[in-house]
This record gives sequence, structure tokens and C-alpha cells, in this order.
Amino acid sequence: SPLFSAITMAPRDPILGITEGFNADKNPAKVNLGVGVYYDDNGKVPLLECVKKAEAILMEKFAPRTYLPIEGLAAYDKAVQELVFGADSAVVQEKRAITAQAIGGTGALKLGADFLKRFAPDAQVWISDPSWENHRALFESAGFTVNNYPYYDAATRGVNFSGMLNALNTMPAGSIVLLHACCHNPTGADLSDDQWTQVIEVVTARGLVPFLDMAYQGFGDGIEADGKVVRRFAEAGGALFVSNSFSKSFSLYGERVGALSIAASSAEEAARIMSQLKRVIRTNYSNPPIHGGQVVATVLSTPELRQLWEEELAGMRVRIREMRAAFVAKLKEKAPAHNFDFVTQQRGMFSYSGLTKEQVEKLRDNNSIYAVDTGRICVAALNQRNIDAVIDAIAAVL
Ligand code: PMP
Repeated sequence: SPLFSAITMAPRDPILGITEGFNADKNPAKVNLGVGVYYDDNGKVPLLECVKKAEAILMEKFAPRTYLPIEGLAAYDKAVQELVFGADSAVVQEKRAITAQAIGGTGALKLGADFLKRFAPDAQVWISDPSWENHRALFESAGFTVNNYPYYDAATRGVNFSGMLNALNTMPAGSIVLLHACCHNPTGADLSDDQWTQVIEVVTARGLVPFLDMAYQGFGDGIEADGKVVRRFAEAGGALFVSNSFSKSFSLYGERVGALSIAASSAEEAARIMSQLKRVIRTNYSNPPIHGGQVVATVLSTPELRQLWEEELAGMRVRIREMRAAFVAKLKEKAPAHNFDFVTQQRGMFSYSGLTKEQVEKLRDNNSIYAVDTGRICVAALNQRNIDAVIDAIAAVL
């Protein structure tokens, strides 16, 4: 059909391309550091004990699979809202926040983007340079112009904070600013508390619209510590969008569990917002799937399971930290002329390792070690068995 013959091939997803190359590689010692998932020390994606227990409870009920409400499972939305803002926070207490279950963090971002396009059609969106590669595409597909604000500084391997602040100070009022709440993807470089204070001040004073993306709560410094910035923004009192995901923190990638929360200035305003958000959801996918939401709601609202989750999440966080420390210590030994101390300063699953595109290619061609061209490595793909080989290979290409 002429309809189809005019269709050209879309560009390949660069990160999925790495996995394709990795899968085709016959070297038994191959390592994929290009991934975006947490692997345990055996190199496996874990199924958390708290999830198994919640699933056993749900299984016994043999409950019918009716439709969920448009905005998702009520118990889920409540538990997530309390996790995100704090049960004792003013926004929750005063019923000024709304939370809708979403199809993962991606779905939450898309709902937020579609909602914003309806009510702030002329605003522009600003994302960090660099950012998770889907941020730009998501907001552009909702019809927005997407700009970058300075973020990563390759020279210091940290945040170009003056550049970021300067950009925030010059954006038009009403601009939508996407911020990574913790564990910045792809760099691993986060803002300090003090820097957040300044960002919150400027965003509030200038009437910018903050959209916090929290895909890695609990992977940085802990559930509370990582979520603190959301609470601080909520206390500042302006409009606030928060997308969060349980893909990583519950290791529930394929169940697609996330949520969009919006903080408003009154309960009445929040009700109007929810009514409109429901229209966005209804015309996208009608209502979310049931299983993942039930699992997360069961874990979060059952004290023993919640404690187990917190322990298991801490286990993932600590293992990543240990791998960061081992990475730095081993490189100090094998490549003493190079300083990788910044890797232990970074937070979350990822590290901008400083490896160049050429070095990444050499690692792949010589050692079957796969990383992203930008030098991004997934620290959670390192383990006791592969780390020495990875370090030797990196030392050889430096
Ligand atoms: N935001 C960021 C920063 C991410 O890294 C990811 C996923 N890796 C998402 C959102 C999307 O999360 P999900 O997989 O739950 O859609």
C-alpha cells in the first residue's frame, strides 16, 4: 500500500542497540554495562521477597479482574502519595495533592506532559543537559518545544551549578523545568541540599513549574533522603508535578508501576485537576493494569512487608555503593595515574565514568565489555565475579 511504502525506518534506540550487540556476542566473559536495570551479585534481576509474599497473599484471594478506576487503585494511590510527600506533610493532610497510578515512570511523565499541554500550551519545557534520553522525546511528542539547561560539567565531573542557576534565572515565567529528584540518569551527579535550596528559591520566585522525576527513590542515600527534595518543593507551595516509578525500587520493571502526583494550593483546586487528569487517562488507555499496583499497595500498607521492602531496597543500595568503592579502589591500584574518586560521589545506578567513545569501542572490541558511547556505565551490572576483568580492561584502555 502507498501508505506503508512511504514509511521510512525509524532510528534505532541507541541503548537497545547495545543489548542487541551484547546478545549476539559469543564471548562467555562478556559484560553488559550499558543496561538500565539493577542486577544482583549473581548478575540476575532480583524478584524481591516482599513482592513474592505480596503475590502469595493476592494469589490466595483469587479476586476477579475488574477494571480499576481511571486514576488507579485507591489503596495504591494513597500509599504512593504518602511515600512521595510524607503522610504527615501539609499537602497530604490538607488534601491538596492528587496521585494517579500510571504505566511506569514513563507513563507518569506522559500523563503529566499531556495534561500540561492542555493547560499550559505555550510553555516550553527545560530538561538537564544531558538527561534520560526519553525525556525530550516524551515532551516533544506531547507537542512541547524542549530545551536543555546546563547540568553536567565534564571538567569537574560534577554539576555546572552556576550554569544551571543562570538558566533558571532567565527562563520565561511558567516554563516547565524537569528535575531529577535523585540519582541523576545518566550522570549520577546530584545537587547538594544547599544547591537544592537555591533551585527551589529561584523556581518559586520566578514562577517556574517544577516537574520532579523520581525513578530511583531509595537507590541514593535512602528512601527518606532521596525523597526529601519532593517534600521541600511541596513546602514551597507552588504548582508541583512528580512522576515516580517502582520499576527499580521494587524490581518490577515489566509490571509497569508508577504514578503521577500533582500538588496544588487547595483541596478544591486538586479536585479540578484530578477531574481533568482523568480525561487525559481515559483517552489514552482508560485505566491502568491491576497486578503491579496491587503488589506495591500490599507491600507499602502491610507493616512487615514494608519493612522487608525497605531492607531489600537498602541491600540494593548498599551493593551499588560497594561496587562504586571497589571500582575506585581497584582502579587506583591498576591505573594510579588516573583519579576516579568522583565515582563514589555519584548516586544511583549510573556513572558517567569519563570513558571516551573510543575507549568504550575498545572495551567492546577487545574485551566484550559493553557501555554507552557517552561513557555511561551501569554500576549495578558490576559484581564480584566480573569487576576484576572490567577494571583490567578499563586500565588497559586509559
Ligand atoms: N525517568 C528516568 C530518569 C528513568 O531513568 C526511567 C527509567 N529508566 C524512567 C523515568 C522510566 O521509568 P519506567 O521504566 O518505570 O517507565
